[in-house]
Amino acid sequence: MGKVTPVPVSQDRCCIMALREYQICSNCVMDTSDSLIRFDEDGVCDHCRNYYDNILPNWQYGNNCKAELDKLLLDIREQGEGKQYDCMIGLSGGLDSSYLAYSAVRLWGLRPKFIHVDTHWSMPVASENISKLKDGLGIEVETITVDWGELKDLQIAFFKSQVPYQDIPQDLAIFAASYNYAVKNSIKYILNGGNHSTECIREPVEWGHINDTSLLRDIHQQFGAKPLVNYPLLGFFRKNLYYRYIKGLRIVKALDLISYKKQDAIELLGKEFGWEQYQHKHYENRFTRFYEGYWCYHKFGYDRRRPHYSSLIVTGQITRDTVLEMLKNPPYDEDEAMNDLKHVSSRLWISEDEFMALMRQPNKTWKDYKSDKVIIDFAIKAAKAFGLERRNYR
Ligand SMILES: [Zn+2]
Repeated sequence: MGKVTPVPVSQDRCCIMALREYQICSNCVMDTSDSLIRFDEDGVCDHCRNYYDNILPNWQYGNNCKAELDKLLLDIREQGEGKQYDCMIGLSGGLDSSYLAYSAVRLWGLRPKFIHVDTHWSMPVASENISKLKDGLGIEVETITVDWGELKDLQIAFFKSQVPYQDIPQDLAIFAASYNYAVKNSIKYILNGGNHSTECIREPVEWGHINDTSLLRDIHQQFGAKPLVNYPLLGFFRKNLYYRYIKGLRIVKALDLISYKKQDAIELLGKEFGWEQYQHKHYENRFTRFYEGYWCYHKFGYDRRRPHYSSLIVTGQITRDTVLEMLKNPPYDEDEAMNDLKHVSSRLWISEDEFMALMRQPNKTWKDYKSDKVIIDFAIKAAKAFGLERRNYR
């Protein structure tokens, strides 16, 4: 089988990757583009081992969770009595949140407040999917629009910072806007589309550092030009301590309590609502498609399809051979990538030449900036100790 390994543009990354002989997991498709990956004597990686040892025995494909789900739904309904809404769901138009919306309304009889955080980069298919769900489920969706001028300034600053995780400005805005909205409106439960079925193998931290407000602030201070006035911010302690323990906000991954399979969900949503699938996970957002498929792939050598497809392989939803065939091609068509490059550059008011110059500068990581990494690591350790986080986080 021939393999395609992206050639990182940045020279320093080339040197790092050259230090280690190429190896791919014999069970999934994670490989040495994850610089900290470890393999056992059978060539099975530590992501797979963690899945079989820590996730699967507790999760069991969501098959034995009826009692837990019933208890959760009872709690949600009880605390929501007399209120207009009993929980909240953020809709992106992507598969996980769409299926969650369907389950909450049709299967569980909940009364969620639906919000959509508009970061100005949604593909038409995402907006159309939200419209189809609105019509089909008879729901209202409130849109919270992120200040475009401030978000744009942050996104330019992040490109200048040379880190791989270019979606922190969008992701943090989505989380902060959602959580702030819930607390302000006394909503106690947020149902979140996160799930083991499609995400049990997490991308390595070096590829996708967790949302980090200190990192965002430092990059903004060094490379930003516009003050952050309207951009929704939510610090680590406010989110994890004040909102959780004082305000009683609960974030629930309800899809882990049912048998949730990607292809079944696509077919059901298609049949019920005319919902449409797009090429890859997260490609409902044009900026995300470009930064994952081009910036990460060509500049850092990170193919973000690997953890996603590996999740589907270990959960039995696709074969490894099928994925290896797909990985022979780049994440998306080169012509489309060039179109996205033009589109992203023009919207961010930088020239294509300036963007390509940024691509060639030395790569950096969270270590080059102020960061909440120590606090985040401590919180992940605590979450692991209490069984709230079981994925391989490193
Ligand atoms: Zn593996």
